[in-house]
Amino acid sequence: MLTNDELAKWDRENFMHPSTHLGQFARGEAAQRIVTGGEGVHITDRDGNRLLDGFAGLYCVNVGYGRTEIAEAIAAQAHELAYYHAYAGHGSETSITLAKMVMDRAPDHMARVYFGLGGSDANETNIKLIWYYNNIRGLPQKKKIISRWRGYHGSGLMTGSLTGLELFHKKFDLPLAQVIHTEAPYYFRRKDAGMSEADFSAHCAEELEKLIAAEGADTIAAFIGEPVLGTGGIVPPPAGYWEAIQKVLDRHDILLVADEVVTGFGRLGTMFGSDHYGLKPDLITIAKGLTSAYAPLSGSIVGQRMWDVLMQGTDEFGVLGHGWTYSAHPIGAAAGVANLELIDKLGLVENAGKVGGYLNTRMQAALGAHPNVGDVRGEGMLCAVELVQDREARTFFDPSQAIGGKIVAAMLKRGVIARAMPQGDIIGLAPPLCLTEAEADTIVGVTTEAVKEVLG
Ligand code: PMP
Repeated sequence: MLTNDELAKWDRENFMHPSTHLGQFARGEAAQRIVTGGEGVHITDRDGNRLLDGFAGLYCVNVGYGRTEIAEAIAAQAHELAYYHAYAGHGSETSITLAKMVMDRAPDHMARVYFGLGGSDANETNIKLIWYYNNIRGLPQKKKIISRWRGYHGSGLMTGSLTGLELFHKKFDLPLAQVIHTEAPYYFRRKDAGMSEADFSAHCAEELEKLIAAEGADTIAAFIGEPVLGTGGIVPPPAGYWEAIQKVLDRHDILLVADEVVTGFGRLGTMFGSDHYGLKPDLITIAKGLTSAYAPLSGSIVGQRMWDVLMQGTDEFGVLGHGWTYSAHPIGAAAGVANLELIDKLGLVENAGKVGGYLNTRMQAALGAHPNVGDVRGEGMLCAVELVQDREARTFFDPSQAIGGKIVAAMLKRGVIARAMPQGDIIGLAPPLCLTEAEADTIVGVTTEAVKEVLG
């Protein structure tokens, strides 16, 4: 067996990691962790650490680690039929079963599901379907997509453009011209401190209305948003936001894409975030929680009004020119079926609401009054603590101080993984949906100690 040092060296010399400082990593200056196993909400590594994963990997291991039911379903599928494609009407019992299970759980007006591999490619599919839809309708000018600043929708060319975070654009020549961004529904960071939540929601809708007027409604195809902003800071929408936005979209014949890669399959305590906020999307993006990341699989759930036009399109122009080799991969589908069965069996949607609510209440009680905590917020099994230099003035630390990173490091020392969100000093938590109240207490205790260690 390789020693830890040998493995670490191979890693530095061969492996280009995503979202990593390449130079620091290659020189051995950056964090490196070789993960060996997982059980429930914990992972283990080669250095002998056992860590409580407060971010469920990348908010994806929703049922927790080490679920034998899913491992066995994957193994059985690999033995029986590891692969066959889904082109030209081909399927497997598992992929057809999963499609039925997804549609049974999706909001009523949704019509079909297309399967991909990850959240980014699912959103790429969405944009192609939207363009196809408007071309079939004879509206070739209606193509622009509105996304929000701080939204996260992937890191491909189109999806990285939709993502409204500077890091994903800078030096990549993004965003592409067809993508435009509007204000983030980030009440805590509103410019006018006196604005009520309802007024701020109305303001966001007005900003959207102005943007549509400036660009011309006949050039705008769709609006994409996460029900709760995720990577952009874990920000639940202000009261009335989605109602106000949907009214504007309806008025201008603009489609709504609900990116539920994080919120789909229970994270907010409802099956979908769309159920939670009363959204009526035309497309729903799913990934992560679909298989709890036991195998890569994503999907685009298509609403009825688009589906009718897509069918008309292939009647007129022939086979849909879109598909991946691995669309609806049988092993991913097997993981998906076993995962959704497990979510039902263990009541994890309800647990996310209950224990997530407990986590948020306890975090608020522990840190809500700390002089450097500006905001404790969350919804379901999502929680964020935003640090400020001055509470009253709502001023922020200089990013060079990396306060968020230091707190997350202090948490790690105490055995809990949290995520320093990429824009601002925000401690993000998105544990597996099977979290217990005792584990939530551990997270809150460790977060509190770490904040005190770094900020006093
Ligand atoms: N949409 C959202 C809301 C996400 O959070 C993510 C990933 N964090 C993606 C899309 C992209 O998914 P993937 O990384 O699987 O491509």
